[in-house]
Amino acid sequence: MEDRPAGSVLTRSRRGALRYGFAYSVNPYRGCPHACAYCYADSVTRDGRPWGSALDRKVGAPQVLSRELQTAPKGLVMLSSATDPYPPEEVRSRLTEGCLRALREARFPVSILTRSPLVLRDLPLLQGFPGVEVGFSFTSSRDRPDLEPRVPPVASRLRAIRQLSRSGVPTFASVAPLLPGTSGEDLRTLVEALWGAGVRAAFADPLSLSSYPAAARRMRALGARPFGPGEAEHLLSGLELEAGKVGLPVYRRLFAWRPDAVPPRRGGSPAFRTGARFDLLSRPEEGLPGRAQ
Ligand code: SF4
Repeated sequence: MEDRPAGSVLTRSRRGALRYGFAYSVNPYRGCPHACAYCYADSVTRDGRPWGSALDRKVGAPQVLSRELQTAPKGLVMLSSATDPYPPEEVRSRLTEGCLRALREARFPVSILTRSPLVLRDLPLLQGFPGVEVGFSFTSSRDRPDLEPRVPPVASRLRAIRQLSRSGVPTFASVAPLLPGTSGEDLRTLVEALWGAGVRAAFADPLSLSSYPAAARRMRALGARPFGPGEAEHLLSGLELEAGKVGLPVYRRLFAWRPDAVPPRRGGSPAFRTGARFDLLSRPEEGLPGRAQ
């Protein structure tokens, strides 16, 4: 564990990242103890330490962020893009909580993406926070300690989604990365569990590590195989089919369900979607279109 003074916290998306639909990212930590083998974050942060072994706190991040927000144009903030904003250390450091307070005060829309039910600690802050949503990542309907050694169990993530949804905080699922060899039964079980827990949208993205050599090496060392011909599209279509049966909208572009997402650039990645766009304040069966087609 290292402490680093936070130089800058609000990172404006570069052209490449804009295809994911967020204008800014905020990473209160560097590194991630969850240690997912496929994680690309160490390639992005150029962190040469063994992945999952280190977590640096950005000391003073909430205060720096608060200053930066005073002059930044409004835009969707992703919390976080290169770490999990709720590592166990967050219980003590409360950097993510401080950043959320700054974002709420400055009235910036926020999408939290985590694998940890620790986000529930901040439920009082999230309730009535305009433009906030909480996403949980899943690669399977079952725990994957082989690939995600310190990620909280699937059941705990589903319970957190249920509690957030019942408390009026919009939730989504990031089924990413979709892994080679995932079975149709696994996808069906996952979709039913997500829908039952109350997610309002799902994002799906197949594993792609061509730009992330360190993650590719980790996956190879664990014996993971690449996608077979057509397999990635087959899995995406299978997920969309299962989601369509329950009415869960699935999108191939992150945040495509949000009216305040940055639109894709002309010539960039198309904003695929299989469900109708809908307002996160309501689930499709509550009166807005959204049944997957
Ligand atoms: S939780 Fe996210 S940031 Fe952390 S190791 Fe896993 S994929 Fe990477």
